Amino acid sequence: MTTTAPAGDDERALLADRLAAVRARVADACAAAGRDPRSVRVLLATKTVDAARVRAALAADAAAVEADGTLAPVLIGENRVQELVAKGPALADLGPVTHLIGPLQSNKVNAALRWVSCVESVESLALARRLAGRCADRATPLDVLVQVNVSGEPTKHGVTLDAAADLATTVAALPGLRLAGFMTVGLRSPDPAAVGAGYAALAAVRDDVVASGEPGTSEARELSMGMSGDLEVAVRHGATLVRVGSAVFGARPPA
Ligand SMILES: *Cc1c(COP(=O)(O)O)cnc(C)c1O
Repeated sequence: MTTTAPAGDDERALLADRLAAVRARVADACAAAGRDPRSVRVLLATKTVDAARVRAALAADAAAVEADGTLAPVLIGENRVQELVAKGPALADLGPVTHLIGPLQSNKVNAALRWVSCVESVESLALARRLAGRCADRATPLDVLVQVNVSGEPTKHGVTLDAAADLATTVAALPGLRLAGFMTVGLRSPDPAAVGAGYAALAAVRDDVVASGEPGTSEARELSMGMSGDLEVAVRHGATLVRVGSAVFGARPPA
């Protein structure tokens, strides 16, 4: 995050091309799965991308949406609260388009809530309760997704598949929050069948929770899953939100 100058025309054209390529991939995957392409939204994962490039991507997207009225505008996803807070003021005029997609420590809840319309990374009841406490007096509840570690890889965040339905049902009943669905970072593997098994398992949890009849669960249809490398697999298994970073912004500097 060093440059703050507005992105040039070349940069905007490149972002527009890559965004169009991602939308084409989503549309093809939907066609292959017999799904309506409007049932999948694209979220741009903007970690390490400065605010000027984020704006350039959103401007390119706005032009595409204007040209094709069937497209829904992209959303933004930030991983790190520090980055979210740093870029927040420069993006605030764009409206409630930003989701938090990374871990949230309890002492950063207030800072994060200032800038996001959805927290996709709810992975404990303690965090959900803290968010609920901060949102209890809002006119509209905060959208949240329960993050699930479908692969069981120890480096990944999220509640286990076994515990996901219980956490979701409890979260759904908290005032101040609206349970909108589930999020996962899939297995890192070149084998689409192995990756897809995790996504299918999460879709099954989602179906069970929505069908449970428990308070606040009926709108929990969102499945945020799939990234640049595996969005087709995720769409095949029901993703409603794919989170794409490098396919649009290029390779990131090493963390
Ligand atoms: C970085 C990131 C993405 C996007 O990853 P790409 O492979 O660059 O598309 C999606 N979700 C989360 C949680 C991320 O951290």
